[in-house]
Amino acid sequence: MGEKVRKVLKVLKDVNVDSIEPKVEFNSGVKYPIFDGTVISVEDVRESLLLLHEAGILKSEVVDNIAVCPHCLSHKLMIRTQCPSCGSPKLVRGRMIEHLACGHIDFEEKFKSGEVLFCPNCRKPLGQLGVDYRTFSSLYRCLNCMSVFSNPKIEYLCSSGHSFSENDLAVHSVMAFKVSPDKRSLIERMAFDVEDILKPLMDMGLSIKAPATLQGRSGIKHDFSFAIWYEYEDTPSIVGSIHLLDRALSATDVLALWAKANDVGVQHRVMITFSGVSEDGRRLAAAYNLKIIEGKDAQDAAEKVREHITELLKGMKPPAPKAPMPEAKKEEKKEPTVLTRFPWDTFYFAINLTRLI
Ligand SMILES: [Zn+2]
Ligand SMILES: [Zn+2]
Ligand SMILES: [Zn+2]
Repeated sequence: MGEKVRKVLKVLKDVNVDSIEPKVEFNSGVKYPIFDGTVISVEDVRESLLLLHEAGILKSEVVDNIAVCPHCLSHKLMIRTQCPSCGSPKLVRGRMIEHLACGHIDFEEKFKSGEVLFCPNCRKPLGQLGVDYRTFSSLYRCLNCMSVFSNPKIEYLCSSGHSFSENDLAVHSVMAFKVSPDKRSLIERMAFDVEDILKPLMDMGLSIKAPATLQGRSGIKHDFSFAIWYEYEDTPSIVGSIHLLDRALSATDVLALWAKANDVGVQHRVMITFSGVSEDGRRLAAAYNLKIIEGKDAQDAAEKVREHITELLKGMKPPAPKAPMPEAKKEEKKEPTVLTRFPWDTFYFAINLTRLI
C-alpha cells in the first residue's frame, strides 16, 4: 500500500499540476488521466488519492457521480426490465393506441386494417385522434400477464453477476483533487525515497531494513521507518522514524517512538523531522536519550543521519565477522535487506496520534 502512495506522490511532484481531474469512462470507471502512462494501476491511483485526501494533503471536490454494484462496486452494469405486476422479464415495448370508447389498449399495428384503424376489441373504426383514441409513443406489455405499463420494474445486473434493485444501487461520488499550495513542499519531501537517506549507511557495511516491523517483548509488532543492524542479532542497534507531517515533531511523536523502541529493546533511537520539533518534544527526547535530526531536505537529513550513525558506531565494539545466521534462526529472520517502500504505517500512526490529541 505504501509504495503505491509514494509512486502517486512522485508523479504529482514530477508533473507539478495543481488539480487532478477525473475522467469517467466505461472501461476503468473513474480514472485520472495525469497518471496515464505510469506504472500505477487505475485502482491504486484512486485509492492513493483518497488516502492523501484523508491525510489532508489533497483537497477534494465532488464533480460527478457513478452508479455501482453495492456488492462488488463494479460500474459495469446492465439494466434489466421486469413486469411490475408479475415480475416476468417477458416484455415487449412499442407504440400503443388506446381506444377511448371501450378502453382497449394495444400496439398500433393491432389497430391497423389497410389504410384505416379499427379497434381489435370492439371492432369499431377509430375516428379522430384525441377524441376517439390516443397514442402512446412507448409502453410495455407483459407477455406473461398481458398488463400494459410505462414504468417497468428495473433490475441491475453487474459484471460479476450480482443482481439488485434500483434502491440498492450504490452511488459513488466522483472526486477531483487539488494540491493545496501550502502542501506542495510536503509532497516533495514525501515523494523522496527513504533509501536515499539510508543507502550511504549500507555502503558502510550495515544491514538495513526500511520499513521494518519488529516484535516487542510485549508480543506486539511495531513499525519503524527503518532499522539498522550493526551485528547479526535479532535486535537491531538503531531504529528510526521519519516524520513527514507539516507540523513540528511533538512530545507524543517522541513518546510513541520511545515506547516502541523500548518494547523491542533497541538501544539507539533516531527521529528525522523536516518540520522542526516542539519545545516539549525536544526536552522529552533529551530526557529519553532519543536523537532528533532536523533536516532541511532529504540530502541534508541524509548527511546528518550519516554523521550521527558514524558517531554511534565509534562507541560500539567492533562487529564480529559476518558469520552466517544459525540455521534455526534463518527461517524466522531473513537477513535484512533494504526495501524502497515508504513507511506509511508509521506515517499514518503519527496521523492517528495527531487526531487523538
Ligand atoms: Zn457486483
Ligand atoms: Zn374498442
Ligand atoms: Zn406480468
